[in-house]
Amino acid sequence: MSGAEELLRSKGLRVTRPRLAVLDVLDGGGHLEVDEITRRVRERLDSVSTQAVYDVLGALSRAGLSRRIEPAGSPARYEARVGDNHHHVVCRGCGEIADVDCAVGSAPCLEPSVSHGFEVDEAEVTFWGLCPGCRARRSADV
Ligand SMILES: [Zn+2]
Ligand SMILES: [Zn+2]
Ligand SMILES: [Zn+2]
Repeated sequence: MSGAEELLRSKGLRVTRPRLAVLDVLDGGGHLEVDEITRRVRERLDSVSTQAVYDVLGALSRAGLSRRIEPAGSPARYEARVGDNHHHVVCRGCGEIADVDCAVGSAPCLEPSVSHGFEVDEAEVTFWGLCPGCRARRSADV
């Protein structure tokens, strides 16, 4: 049994070829849009509908096997790095996303100044800026 099969079973999920393929794609790292995930899954399986990929991503995210992020102005992206409360830095120029380890540790790493009686369990932090490529292009344009 592969590690991915064990992972699915440990979360009470049925092992299916699309689920294994999506996990394999996400395992390659990065923050991937559904279109990109679908394209790569189709390289592994003969025919998989985009809807099937959405369904798999939903099941994996609910089970805590993948994480969905959606920076403002960008389509949803999925990654396999879960459970470590890391944050993201997003490029305003090209939309590139990189991981940023949490400087504080466990969630919620930031305490709200006012909690309004909520029990807060997560602070979703997104840093915005320009990636090295966009900075180089920008200084070349001037
Ligand atoms: Zn950029
Ligand atoms: Zn990430
Ligand atoms: Zn943090």
